Amino acid sequence: METYDVIVIGAGPVGENAADRARRGGLSVALIEAELVGGECSYWACMPSKTLLRPGAARAATTGIPGLPEPGPLDPAEVFAWRDRVTGEGDDQGQEDWLASVGITLIRGHGRLAGVRRVEVTAGELPEGVSTTRALEARRAVVVATGSVPVLPDIPGLAEASPWSSRDATAADAVPESLIVLGGGVVGCEMATAYADLGSHVTLIARGGLLGSVEPFAGAAVADSLRAAGVDVRTGTSVTRVERRGTTVTVTVGGGDEAQQVTAAEILVATGRTPRTADVGLESVGLDPATALAIDDTTAVLTARGDDAGGEAPWLYACGDVTGRAATTHQGKYQARVCGDVLAASFGEGDTGTGTATASVERVADAPPWSPLRATADHGAQTQVVFTRPQVAWVGLTRAEADAAGRDVDEVAVDLTSAAGAGVTHPDYAGRAHLLVDRERRVIVGATFVGPDAGEMLHAATIAIVGEVSMDRLWHAVPAFPTVSEVWLRLCETYGL
Ligand SMILES: Cc1cc2nc3c(=O)[nH]c(=O)nc-3n(C[C@H](O)[C@H](O)[C@H](O)COP(=O)(O)OP(=O)(O)OC[C@H]3O[C@@H](n4cnc5c(N)ncnc54)[C@H](O)[C@@H]3O)c2cc1C
Repeated sequence: METYDVIVIGAGPVGENAADRARRGGLSVALIEAELVGGECSYWACMPSKTLLRPGAARAATTGIPGLPEPGPLDPAEVFAWRDRVTGEGDDQGQEDWLASVGITLIRGHGRLAGVRRVEVTAGELPEGVSTTRALEARRAVVVATGSVPVLPDIPGLAEASPWSSRDATAADAVPESLIVLGGGVVGCEMATAYADLGSHVTLIARGGLLGSVEPFAGAAVADSLRAAGVDVRTGTSVTRVERRGTTVTVTVGGGDEAQQVTAAEILVATGRTPRTADVGLESVGLDPATALAIDDTTAVLTARGDDAGGEAPWLYACGDVTGRAATTHQGKYQARVCGDVLAASFGEGDTGTGTATASVERVADAPPWSPLRATADHGAQTQVVFTRPQVAWVGLTRAEADAAGRDVDEVAVDLTSAAGAGVTHPDYAGRAHLLVDRERRVIVGATFVGPDAGEMLHAATIAIVGEVSMDRLWHAVPAFPTVSEVWLRLCETYGL
């Protein structure tokens, strides 16, 4: 039995951060990884997808600028080569070296809980029938950071057609002549944009509108722009059958007399992801492997407050995609920082390891809402950027969410072209900013920006929300002229200031 203070299962961006913060707090940490250290984000998600999207975005930003020659088509081979450099050609040695340098023990293999504070690791890549299982025990805590897996909808013929997942789309080395994208969420819209940029004839099929969880004007702007780029965008319809024959895939869209067929060289399924809770041994500690690991704001798993030092301390923690709370790298890493700090504060330096950690645990339990020991931003200040053209960026509530929560809000919206900076950025600059302001408290509770580089405008809104800055105070935050950020002045004016 190998023993560590903390065992983290999953070395994606989230697990790495939890391990790092716990280690900095003086705890011994083992980090278990079944595939590549750095996780989905580094090799098959955020990093490669944003690299594939960047050349098209740069081309669009410089197309139509007076005095600049029109840029030509993208060179897919060069784009893929850049993607490979950004993803380190799938080699995680650099990350492994970093873990060693900070004193975290990396254990390669598949980790599973095997009871309270017990973890078994099965090494991969062994001959069939040979299994090497290492038994580990956590003196203090186990953190589950196993991420998520894509959902394959139950559509006749879809599984048999071996469709692309987001991994295939972000790791491809060639551009299919035509591509059907199933799903109008973030990944569907981003990959439709990237592959249209790379020269594929893209058909995007979405059950609802695009980017359905955001303000409706955002999805509409992305749909318009995809159509202008030649993408066949079909919203409000479903695929009812899929068939791959030879080098083509045919999907049936809609049913009955309205049914239509679309044929393409490849099909990408981007219909969402689900927490990776299967095969993590959750049943061994009485948890349901079919559901997300619900956590409290200290990132302790809600139903696993078990017997630990002093009989008080939670021992099982989770962060990142596996919690179902947030499905972005930055929010998951935020939870991970909280998690690592909570573990360090509960059990780290100062705790001799011989007695109980009750006093420290109580200090953690009494921490105020905005202390580093609480994942408070998860509730009203989650941020996300969709790297489509236009970009879509939002933080906090949407109007629909505010209504559902019974919040009394004022809506304030202006076109980005109302800021002088827009006109000097691009002659055809377009976009919109939208705020939700709590009527009584006059503080922002939600913000959405749609436009070129809208993601860079988001953080001002995030700070205003987290800091609960009133609109009256924001009036005194004077944006520089002529920047696109001057839209904040327009928003204040439209609010009535
Ligand atoms: C195409 C795409 C693009 C995206 N773009 C962005 C973006 O631009 N910005 C953004 O913020 N988010 C983006 N996301 C979401 C982001 O990738 C995830 O939110 C993030 O990767 C979650 O991190 P994680 O550490 O929780 O999980 P993961 O990154 O999935 O890491 C989990 C790790 O755990 C390992 N693991 C799982 N089970 C076990 C086990 N039992 N034993 C050992 N190891 C195990 C896995 O191998 C993996 O390495 C994107 C997602 C996709 C699919």
